[in-house]
Amino acid sequence: MRLTYLDYAATAPLLSDARNAMHKAEEQFFANASALHTPGHLALNEIEECREILAELINANPSEIIFTSGASESNNTVLNIFNGCEIETSPLEHHSIIEAAKIYRGKKRPKLYSYMLVNNELGEILSLPDIKAKEFDDSPLFELKNDWGKPLVTDKRSAYLHSDLTQALGKISIDVKKLNLDYATFSAHKIGGPIGVGALYVKDGVPFKPLIIGGNQENKRRGGTYNTIGIIGFKAALKNVQENQTWKVYDTKVRKLRDKLASRIINEIPGSSLNTDISSDKSLPNILNVSFAAAEGESIQLYLDAEGVIVSTGSACAAGDTKPSHVLMAKTGDAEVAHSSIRFSFGLDNTMDDVDRVMEVLPGIVKRLQGISTIA
Ligand code: PMP
Repeated sequence: MRLTYLDYAATAPLLSDARNAMHKAEEQFFANASALHTPGHLALNEIEECREILAELINANPSEIIFTSGASESNNTVLNIFNGCEIETSPLEHHSIIEAAKIYRGKKRPKLYSYMLVNNELGEILSLPDIKAKEFDDSPLFELKNDWGKPLVTDKRSAYLHSDLTQALGKISIDVKKLNLDYATFSAHKIGGPIGVGALYVKDGVPFKPLIIGGNQENKRRGGTYNTIGIIGFKAALKNVQENQTWKVYDTKVRKLRDKLASRIINEIPGSSLNTDISSDKSLPNILNVSFAAAEGESIQLYLDAEGVIVSTGSACAAGDTKPSHVLMAKTGDAEVAHSSIRFSFGLDNTMDDVDRVMEVLPGIVKRLQGISTIA
């Protein structure tokens, strides 16, 4: 059975360029990238190249990029810096922000605002808060010094802005300066790189404290032996974004697929309603979240799976959780809508055939479930 994969927002399949680069790297760049010998230097060169590409893509300096194990670690790192401080987040954040905020949130200044630019369940593009930060220098966060006693934090403000850009990278063009960001989160596996690699943008001069302590890697900002092979895979995926300007392809080719699926679902499936606002600028071009009255999302997902159509019911990280999605609850306040939702998320490899395949099987599945529903 041909697989119709429409769960790119959970994980994009590994790009063949990334797979080949990682395969070669296993032989060529096996050494510890912090070592002073030649194989170590060669591995570190690869890492620095990746850092430069990401920095260029988002309009940052390479010194402002830290490699991590993924977006969850990047998010946790930022919230840990602001331990005990006021932390404001949007209600649509990923659990790695929401749960960490519960632990770290306090009452002190400076205040951290953490607002994702793009939501992973709906694809909605959010407007970031316009922080009017005043000068502020009565905080222990500003007492951090380097080995020579020089202050590490030069930018003493009463408020800082972080954005989780995990879903935005590669889908829309990103400029951290224009967005006025102090911190930003990225993950490799959402753009065709490997799982388990990510990055954090930290603007020069803003407060910083490592989450993982015990190594000098990343200028003492993130301990742990470099994941050279993973970062090389990330580099290949970033090159694909940069060289093909993928956000333009999403805006044209992928948007057509998403919009076609949306209109066919609305026209052909009674009881369907779109949770994603698909008018341009309101959402990413590749995500469509839909509810089907009196049919349960998880059942739809399982029946689609049996037909080789792979989708999800919101965030994969919350899979197995019987609670309705916090994102849909925040948007609609309606548990029934939340329980009956499906997220279709497209990637660059999808075609109109995939839309046709969904529409071959989805109407019958929904009709069958609506027929046996106890919800209505
Ligand atoms: N933030 C967002 C918005 C996400 O979509 C995800 C992945 N679902 C994460 C964070 C976590 O990413 P990672 O798997 O790299 O930890």
